[in-house]
Amino acid sequence: MQNRYTSFGARLAQYLLLPVLLIGSASKAELPTLGDPTLGSISAREESQLGLAYYRYLKASLPIVDDVQLNYYLESLAQKLVTQSDEAGRNFTFFIVQSPVINAFALPAGYIGVHSGLFLDADNESQLASVLAHEISHVTQRHLARMIDESGNSMMINIATLLAAILVGSQDSEMGQAVLMGGLAGAQQSQINFTRTNEYEADRIGIGLLIEAGINPDGMVEFFEHLLDKSSGLQIEYIRTHPLDINRVTEAKNRIKDEHSTLPKNSEDFLFAKARLAVLVNNNNSLRKLIEANEHHEGVIADYLRGIALTKIDRPAESIAILEKLSSQHKHPWIKLALADAYSANNNMDKALKQLEQLNSLYPGYLPVTLAYTKALNADKQPEKSIELLLRQLQTDQYAVIYQTLAQAYHLNGQMSAALEATGNQYALQGYNELALQQYENALNHKDLSKTSRARLETKKEELLEIVKQSNQ
Ligand SMILES: [Zn+2]
Repeated sequence: MQNRYTSFGARLAQYLLLPVLLIGSASKAELPTLGDPTLGSISAREESQLGLAYYRYLKASLPIVDDVQLNYYLESLAQKLVTQSDEAGRNFTFFIVQSPVINAFALPAGYIGVHSGLFLDADNESQLASVLAHEISHVTQRHLARMIDESGNSMMINIATLLAAILVGSQDSEMGQAVLMGGLAGAQQSQINFTRTNEYEADRIGIGLLIEAGINPDGMVEFFEHLLDKSSGLQIEYIRTHPLDINRVTEAKNRIKDEHSTLPKNSEDFLFAKARLAVLVNNNNSLRKLIEANEHHEGVIADYLRGIALTKIDRPAESIAILEKLSSQHKHPWIKLALADAYSANNNMDKALKQLEQLNSLYPGYLPVTLAYTKALNADKQPEKSIELLLRQLQTDQYAVIYQTLAQAYHLNGQMSAALEATGNQYALQGYNELALQQYENALNHKDLSKTSRARLETKKEELLEIVKQSNQ
């Protein structure tokens, strides 16, 4: 891979020099920008590499909430909006950053992050969805790419550093890390501040997405007003990165006509997700307080919250008592999922498996259930059933975590080349193309490979080689 530093690398070198020129330079106007004809404007491929690098950096440096149920909820809500947009076919990645700071942000190439602080601050699904719709619109309106094209500001330092990290990082991870640390100290602060024009446009398009998706758009105005109330005397990160003033609120209010007021503002899923997130981001001490605070609260959500919190602080027997009662009174898949968790924390795998088996027949193809069930089956050394379910799930969903679980199952079942192929697919989905190629190569070296498997792997390898070749050009 000697040619990695040519072409794209050469352009990168030019970018890298810019920040050095910027520092201490008298006039910004003299400096070339990414929109400069000699550099050309940022291509779709560069944008996607940049987005992926930024996303990986955030994943490595910030705590990201790694929970199948929450990610699935966020993804489903966001996809309702994405499918209404002009770029319904585009790949978006949504994730929750564990941080009390109230913020949400869009990175190049459709990576959208929501801080747990913002999620927990939202009172209803409409408020959360309005933030997502706004961020999605920043992406579909190419606000970031346009800004990169047009700007000669300090954002370039970060972009250049990231581009460097993609190249350096793939050859020498320690050096990549050092480059990142040097150039991106406090990357969470380096998020792009959008212009007011961008903000109005993202609100306008976002309101359209909400209505088309059948979600009440009033949450947008509610959340703005809430943030403005809260911000008196306080610095709210979201307001810094997405300039918000009373005019923007009025504008949004005027756009939302009363006739949409019959659309639903909330969902039960939102309430379950919010409770789950509150438990996941709290440490055990605050969880004890949270449990006490919810002791006398009645209702499904308060019980659910107490149930999962008790399991988390290692008191599964109490959790089981609450959740068994709750699941007999109320039907929501997350209650039984929580109960299965509590059983397994209480070392009662049989009951956990039985619970998950029931759930699986009630909600076939529901990803959080499939994953919980197949992971339990793997742990119980029942890989065959697990493989069957995961292969079926892959017909509708393509997520790295499915391939990861499938690889485990194949491994347990002694199907080594299939395990390697599944891991290869996992890496390919995560954008680690060279690691994926390695796995395919290892799988191809297995003598037990059937003719059809060999042919399939050869095709995959060729396709991936082509992608790697193109991205190095
Ligand atoms: Zn914005």
